[in-house]
Amino acid sequence: MNEDRTALILFGAPGSGKGTQARQLTACLHAPHISTGDILRHHIELGDELGRDVKSILKAGMLVSDELVDKLVEERIDQADAQEAIILDGYPRTVPQADEMLKMFAGRKIAPVVIHLKVDYNRVIERLSGRRICPVCGTLYSTLHSGSNPPKLEGIRDLPEGICDLDGARLITREDDSAPVIRRRLEEYDMQTKPLVEYFRDHGIPYHEVDGSQGTPLEISERICSLVRPVTPADAPAVR
Ligand code: ADP
Repeated sequence: MNEDRTALILFGAPGSGKGTQARQLTACLHAPHISTGDILRHHIELGDELGRDVKSILKAGMLVSDELVDKLVEERIDQADAQEAIILDGYPRTVPQADEMLKMFAGRKIAPVVIHLKVDYNRVIERLSGRRICPVCGTLYSTLHSGSNPPKLEGIRDLPEGICDLDGARLITREDDSAPVIRRRLEEYDMQTKPLVEYFRDHGIPYHEVDGSQGTPLEISERICSLVRPVTPADAPAVR
């Protein structure tokens, strides 16, 4: 196991672009994207016991138990592809989760760095309402005029949601992307997750704020990449 693994923690409100950024940053950091939301939705799709237990919680926009997500993350970061670096999307989301995460990291010599994607709530609500997802490959699309990555084929008869540019699957709207559930998720974020900003500062965890509404997703990921990518000997300025 490597001595010092980096954990990039993508932090921010629902709809701030964590998932989009995580996908783009896997190449920059050579790290897998670990999304607790994706893991939970995968179990729901499988229809296994865990999935059945959490289905109604996700549908309502509430948070699942700390113990459950802590365990899922701990199992995931011990897998072979996560030994260089990891990108966490949607974890930690509460103070007890952050406490548990620091314990996990201390035992494994993982160094966390937080990127807080800041986006105005009105923008978030607009973005989430227009969000569409490919159920096959997970690519995110937006049907908004101002949104990034509109599906090339949308609004056609029988397929108003559009199809995935990559595999042609019929796009879907996430069940929790409806107006009342979006509001509930933002409330949960305000109450349970936002206090972590202070927590990160109090615990001396490297922390950067990035404006998640300025620029294209690619420009934002380049900004993040330059903030977190370890300086390699080739990048370092020559010593004279
Ligand atoms: P978003 O950030 O857009 O809300 P996610 O895919 O990260 O979407 O999460 C979807 C849902 O999964 C959350 O509303 C919550 O029910 C559950 N979830 C994901 N991560 C956590 C977590 N760390 N703790 C508790 N619940 C979580």
